[in-house]
Amino acid sequence: MADACLFCRIALGEIPATIIAESAMSVAFRDAGPQAPTHTLIIPRSHVESLNQLTDPVLMNDLISLVQRVALAEQIAERGYRVVINTHRDGGQSVPHLHLHVLGGRTMHWPPG
Ligand code: AMP
Repeated sequence: MADACLFCRIALGEIPATIIAESAMSVAFRDAGPQAPTHTLIIPRSHVESLNQLTDPVLMNDLISLVQRVALAEQIAERGYRVVINTHRDGGQSVPHLHLHVLGGRTMHWPPG
């Protein structure tokens, strides 16, 4: 665990967040700056810097399972949603702890910015 990591501290409950769902390995909470009517972040409880460092297939499965649970909980599963993993500088990653954005509640556009 990186002591000063914002998302590690959210996972530990040291920084408040609106939790949507959780598992033994991962936590889903509302993004503080939503870019869609529903915008959730899913993070591993353990410190993984980015998608490049995600090697545990059990954790991969857990994160994707939580995406499906969030989509159902947020009632966007049927209509559709977008999952984004910004990775490092060109990907636009601003928090160096792996997170999956789950965006929904409106029509998404392509290509992304
Ligand atoms: P990224 O730019 O892909 O690294 O995404 C980081 C996301 O974290 C942004 O969408 C921010 O709005 C969100 N964020 C930053 N701080 C917090 C926080 N304390 N609670 C919830 N979301 C946050």
